[in-house]
Amino acid sequence: MFKDKVILITGASQGIGRSTALKFASLGGRIALNDIGSQEENLKKVKEEIEKQTAEAKYFFADVSRLEEVEKMVQQIHKEFGRLDVLVNNAGICADRTLAKMTKEEWQRVIDIDLTGVFNCSKAALPLLIQSQGKIVSVSSLVGQRGNFGQANYAAAKAGIIGFTKSLAKEVGKLGIRVNAVAPGFIESKLTETVPQEVRQTVLKLTSLGRFGKPEEVASLVAFLASDEASFITGEVVNIDGGLAI
Ligand code: NDP
Repeated sequence: MFKDKVILITGASQGIGRSTALKFASLGGRIALNDIGSQEENLKKVKEEIEKQTAEAKYFFADVSRLEEVEKMVQQIHKEFGRLDVLVNNAGICADRTLAKMTKEEWQRVIDIDLTGVFNCSKAALPLLIQSQGKIVSVSSLVGQRGNFGQANYAAAKAGIIGFTKSLAKEVGKLGIRVNAVAPGFIESKLTETVPQEVRQTVLKLTSLGRFGKPEEVASLVAFLASDEASFITGEVVNIDGGLAI
């Protein structure tokens, strides 16, 4: 499905990013893994897992919140792979606190990584995506649609991704580029492992399927949206939440 296509996945050393990288590799893609320098060990492991599937993977360090680093990474990807077909904007963090207690730094850090990171990567990748009639899939969140207690920064960033996705889809649709987002509910990963037990129980009760999601389930949706199977879908935000938003 992605034979000879080059896919860049940000924040790919673990969680949803790792699973997405493995999914695209299993579908024939050549994988450019991104994360920050401190994740080298994990990135190496993902690269090895992909190579075991006899697919190709290389990793590139960049902090997505820094445009110069992202531009350098995209240049390296162009040099190493010669093209870019899919950008998956997955890197993200949270820094939860009620607004009354949230510092400007906690606000800014989340906006810089979760929202400006999507701008930086999309902006830097766009010239290559125009050449390949490429696809962008960004990882938003149910929290970006509904808000969440103690997550004003995260909710604002994830809502921003939705507006960004719809606007960019309008700008580049005629160039053959599709731009979509996914909005996961509660997915088991490092990001959610510190969520307090009582909050987990509440989310579980509200989730129609009665369980949390798995990174691989999000990965399948991302791959679908980037594939030709989704050839008439653009500017959409697809929820993947086990019925939490019903
Ligand atoms: P993880 O924390 O497991 O993975 C996110 C990865 O992004 C980490 O490896 C992280 O590194 C990396 N990262 C952080 N900052 C940067 C940066 N500046 N530049 C490059 N990489 C960076 O989280 P998930 O897999 O759960 O989340 C992936 C995405 O899915 C995020 O955007 C998240 O907001 C979103 N999401 C997750 C949900 C969930 O329930 N898990 C629900 C809805 C959305 P490090 O660990 O060192 O910070």
